[in-house]
Amino acid sequence: MFRTLRNIDEGPTYLQVQRCLVCSVVACIAAMYMMDMRATGQDKLGDSPAVHHYFLKEKHQHDAKWGYDGEIGPELWAKLSPKYRLAAEGKRQSPINIPSKCTVPAQLPVLRFKYQEERIAAVNNGHTIQHSEKRGSFLHVGDRVYALEQFHFHVPSEHTIDGRHADMEIHFVHKSEKLGDVVVVAVMVYADSSKPAVDIPLYAEIPKQINEVAEAKDIYRNPDDLLPLDHRYFTYRGSFTTPPCTEGVHWIVMKSPVVIRPEVLAAFKRVIGSNSRPVQKHNDREILSMQSPKQD
Ligand SMILES: [Zn+2]
Repeated sequence: MFRTLRNIDEGPTYLQVQRCLVCSVVACIAAMYMMDMRATGQDKLGDSPAVHHYFLKEKHQHDAKWGYDGEIGPELWAKLSPKYRLAAEGKRQSPINIPSKCTVPAQLPVLRFKYQEERIAAVNNGHTIQHSEKRGSFLHVGDRVYALEQFHFHVPSEHTIDGRHADMEIHFVHKSEKLGDVVVVAVMVYADSSKPAVDIPLYAEIPKQINEVAEAKDIYRNPDDLLPLDHRYFTYRGSFTTPPCTEGVHWIVMKSPVVIRPEVLAAFKRVIGSNSRPVQKHNDREILSMQSPKQD
């Protein structure tokens, strides 16, 4: 039996499938908790709304330097600053492994990507290569609309599906007008010279220095070129994967990957090395699995 959700915001606890009495009681308590969280706009576990340095404009957003190995690596993020405590104490952290056989089948809203063609501009922020979008690209999920703020890359993938990393993962970060409503779409990427690849012309010139911006004046691209054609997805509630690891993020992990040329992957590795946080505990979170597109 499927669940039917009009919006992913309704979350896994709103329209529960009746499975057994114990499940129903647990679901009822969980639904009350989730509704209370939404009423206050606060994440009780994290005690903070989903505001992240991605959305802050001022400089020096971080009070502690962090990275991906050694004394500033992911295992030690929470020790680097009190502001990073969720990295250790959070109960809904990302990324996670997605065991496809243990996900909950659901009828979920179709994703409609209304992205705009834009001039290519990317910055090396010291942690990833990031494209910041001007206003004008949107993701529609049911009747909710989210603006695309930026997209960036992780090598190798942060999420795993059935325990397997992809070569790379793209995160399309969206935000609604309502504070704290963040949707990140994750796309798995494999390097394969034997299959048709998505074209990433920019990365002949990946910005190599921190804060270096690569701008292609006359090259316009639509970010939806980097999306798979099949828009079915997994979804769960998690966090940003970089300090301060703010929770309250709706994750949409696309089931289908895209393919890039091996030389593009090699170029990324040379510039950004490895920038993936290890998978985090599920802590009994449910992962919903879209079974078939909803017919409007
Ligand atoms: Zn990311």
